[in-house]
This record gives sequence, structure tokens and C-alpha cells, in this order.
Amino acid sequence: MLSEFDLIKQYFTRPKRRDASGRTVLGVGDDCALLAPTPGLQLAVSSDMLVEGRHFLAGADPYALGHKSLAVNLSDLAAMGAAPLGFTLALALPAADAAWLDGFSRGLFALADAHGCELVGGDTTKGPLNICITIFGELAPGTALRRDAAQPGDDIWISGTLGDARLALAACLNECALDPDDAALAAPRLHAPAPRVALGRLLAAGRLAHAALDISDGLVGDLGHILAASKVGAVLDVDALPAGPALARQSLELRRRFTAAGGDDYELCFTASAANREAILAAGEQSGTAVTRVGRIEAELGLRLVDATGAALALHLQGWDHFA
Ligand code: ADP
Ligand code: MG
Repeated sequence: MLSEFDLIKQYFTRPKRRDASGRTVLGVGDDCALLAPTPGLQLAVSSDMLVEGRHFLAGADPYALGHKSLAVNLSDLAAMGAAPLGFTLALALPAADAAWLDGFSRGLFALADAHGCELVGGDTTKGPLNICITIFGELAPGTALRRDAAQPGDDIWISGTLGDARLALAACLNECALDPDDAALAAPRLHAPAPRVALGRLLAAGRLAHAALDISDGLVGDLGHILAASKVGAVLDVDALPAGPALARQSLELRRRFTAAGGDDYELCFTASAANREAILAAGEQSGTAVTRVGRIEAELGLRLVDATGAALALHLQGWDHFA
């Protein structure tokens, strides 16, 4: 049986990497980790917790879970336009299961390495499966993509595609039947989201966007946070929302519902001056991320959903709320 300290040593302590950014002065093993952010930059900090039975189904694949636990945190840095520095991992485990720890840590480190983001510390305890990551990033003062910065006249943009994660969940929960090809297309969007870090950094560094957030609880609800924080309203063209390839083959009704209010998309929603359209398309190209214009910020408060003809759409959509 693995002890707490064997477990940390075996699965969560790695030799100092030669290609490391040099931002980690001291990693796992002491009472605190020491990070050295680039002088003059601001620290961006965020935590996201994944709870079994709430954020993922019991028995979820550990490799995918390792990936997703870090991906949702990297997505928060992306939404701010920050560059990843490092992260901590607080883990409650029902048992020291070597096969689970092996898969989880491999999934976690594969994504960490892809983003040059080191695990620098954490905490490990016995308990119901619960994974909490705190991530640290950095950005130049004044460049962060905040929720309170949308301006009337801004375009509203979405990265990538929406709704396939929700479609995959619907299939898992037997809410709908998917043919095997569609299921195979949609599943990675639920289990292995790709955080849009490169796009977020380009938008912030180039001062191309005003406000941004990552879409975790469904676009309509999340966009509502930007509108509230910025004290503005918006028109959203629901039929312009880019559906994931599997969702694109479903009915119009399902497409509208899952693109506008799916959940677990981890795409960026951002607002930007119309003067930056060309530069934003170029940033999308440079970061290998599709970007689509889907609406407009207005001074009049409230969110107005319209269809492709511009006619008002009455959809009863709700963002995800853990306590609703
Ligand atoms: P403390 O006694 O300060 O609580 P711990 O015994 O919990 O320290 O942890 C020992 C070291 O291992 C610390 O450096 C801590 O950051 C690290 N650590 C503990 N759990 C994890 C984990 N799941 N992932 C990475 N590092 C961890
Ligand atoms: Mg501890």
C-alpha cells in the first residue's frame, strides 16, 4: 500500500525539467513553492475544483480526468489573456489506487508540459474524490481581459465551436441517441477540452479585445456575466453560433439549445471593437483557433436572442447553477 508521501513522490514529484521556464525557484517538497514571476508583470491566480458525481461521472477515465482538471484551470488563464506559470494540486482520494494515480498523473502532466506549466505543490488527503487545482499565470499590467470592459458597439466573438460537450453528456445520460461516429466526435469535447491559451494571450498582448471569459456554464449565462459586469446589453445571433461537428448534424432545435446554453465548452467569448476584426481573424489563424462573430454589445441592457433573419427568438435557456 502506498503511503501519502510515497504517493506524492511517485506520482506528483518530477525531476526539475531542463526546458522549464525558470519561473519555479522551488517546487514540490517544501512547505511552500517559490515562484519568480517576470519582473513588472502581474500575477493571475485562479482555482477550479472538480467533484465526482458533480463535475464528472463516477468511474471517469483517470487520464482524461487529469487532463480536464488542468484544462479548466488553463482555460481561466486563457480567458484573462495570461501566460501559465505553474499550479498546485489539492487532491482527496478514496484510496491510493496505483492504476488510477498513474493514469491521472500522466493526463495531467501531458497537458502541463504542452503549456510549460509546472506542478509546484499541493495537498493530498483521503476522502471522496475531489480535485482542486490553483493555477498561476502572468500578464502585463493593463492588458488583462476583464469581464467589466465590454463597450457598446463591440462585436461579440466565440472561439472554436460550441455544444458538442453538452451533446456528449446527453449521450452519456441517455438523453439522446447518437450514432457512433457522432459520439466519437463529441466525446473528446466533454472529456478533453483544449484551453485556448494561445488565442487569449494574443488578444491580451495585442490589446485586441475588451472583455472576455471562458464558457463553462453555457454561453447565454456566461455572456450574462460580461453584460452585468460591464453594465451593457447585447444582441446575440443564435443561428450564427458555431456548432461542433457532431451537433451540427442534429436538429435546429437541439443545435440552438446546446450552442446557446450547453456547458463545459471551454471556448472563449470576447468582445472587441469592430476596428479589430482583421487583427482578430489573424490572431485566430496564428493560434490555430477558429473565431466567429456572433453578436453585438449595445447600451440597452438585457440580452436579445435573434435568429438568422434578425427576428427575436424566444428560447428558454438557463446557465448552469450548482445551487439552482
Ligand atoms: P504540509 O505538511 O506542509 O501540509 P504536505 O506533507 O502536505 O506538506 O506535502 C509535502 C509536500 O508535497 C509539499 O511540498 C506539498 O506542496 C507537496 N504535495 C502534497 N500533495 C501534493 C500533490 N497532490 N501534488 C503535488 N504536490 C503535493
Ligand atoms: Mg499539506
